[in-house]
Amino acid sequence: MALLVQKYGGTSVGTTERIEAVADKVSRFRKDGHSVVVVVSAMSGETNRLIGLASDIMEEPTPREMDVLVSTGEQVTIALLSMALQKRGCDARSYTGSQVRILTDSSHTKARIKQIDEQRMREDLDAGRVVVVAGFQGMDDNGNITTLGRGGSDTTAVALAAALKADECQIYTDVDGVYTTDPRVVDTARRLDRITFEEMLEMASLGSKVLQIRAVEFAGKYNVPLRVLSSFQEGGGTLITLEDENAMEQPVVSGIAFNRDEAKLTIAGVPDTPGSALRILKPVSDANIEVDMIVQNVGEDNRTAFTFTVHRNDFKRAKEVLQRVADELGAREVAGDGKIAKVSIVGVGMRSHAGVATQMFESLSNEGINIQMISTSEIKISVVIDEKYLELAVRALHSTFELDKAAVSEEA
Ligand code: ASP
Ligand code: MG
Repeated sequence: MALLVQKYGGTSVGTTERIEAVADKVSRFRKDGHSVVVVVSAMSGETNRLIGLASDIMEEPTPREMDVLVSTGEQVTIALLSMALQKRGCDARSYTGSQVRILTDSSHTKARIKQIDEQRMREDLDAGRVVVVAGFQGMDDNGNITTLGRGGSDTTAVALAAALKADECQIYTDVDGVYTTDPRVVDTARRLDRITFEEMLEMASLGSKVLQIRAVEFAGKYNVPLRVLSSFQEGGGTLITLEDENAMEQPVVSGIAFNRDEAKLTIAGVPDTPGSALRILKPVSDANIEVDMIVQNVGEDNRTAFTFTVHRNDFKRAKEVLQRVADELGAREVAGDGKIAKVSIVGVGMRSHAGVATQMFESLSNEGINIQMISTSEIKISVVIDEKYLELAVRALHSTFELDKAAVSEEA
């Protein structure tokens, strides 16, 4: 029998009926003989409602009080779920983050977990109880309530699973798994049976918002098998795990991620001398603007061009900074484009296959799509294109890499 940590997100516990449905599910796992720790989010909309209340009082409340406030959402759901379990004859106990000693640093509203004392949970589990823990919260060394950042319940679940050496951490949500790409864009997108931590991190950081990125990092670091599955539908979901060295057939590309949130900036006619990259990008990072892709052209006549992308929200500010830099450096001009999109193919199989980039570029070229920037990592190739071709590009790549076909079964 397995030790499972199950996390139910805000939508899954959004009403008392839904909480009862979660209780049905959890008690079934107990009846089957599994040990279960449940982590819950606040009821959907609740955390936002609480943040709204704070902003009625003042513009910038202190982070410490914000944590005291927003952590209450989860406290409501742990109690309600435990009641619903008890009503079903399933022994259960609810705990706040501090009660199960989830120790964090003191960075309020974005705290990091330092340590978990799993003893108390073990005692309950040994006594046959379901342990229901409030997600998203912990306490610092001085006993102050802290929270882990939006979406932090995923991280709580993974951290508990790591501390308890659970067999699996199951994240129940409103989608039934991780898809090859967004099914709203490509209707032949397929749920993946499994994906590696590394691939999931790339997919997540590129905009597939199924899981909090930190939770995936944490799971990878401690090798906690992580499964994403639906609260509302039956099915095996997607297992996120280490690479399977024995798999007969590893798909070369596992998924296609995309992102419309970026903008592109170019500074042209920059003197091609040591230190110019620093002089361009330091003021940008000093302004707290995060840079994603960077391309420097080969210099010509001692001048070069620099292109980089930033989040679209930072576009205007970045352009102002760059204009100032251009004046200082005696660069020729600054240009920008807010209507770009980034499309990436992701797959650990790329490590062992040549020609994947060629295939990607051929696919885009066949559709007449111009590539503006390219960047690669060991398991990912990203291109920047005109935003208006985004859906076309994703569809073309999805079929080029045969993602709409059923995967070769690894068990076969
Ligand atoms: N309730 C918190 C939020 O809405 C944490 C979570 O749901 O994971 O961000
Ligand atoms: Mg959530």
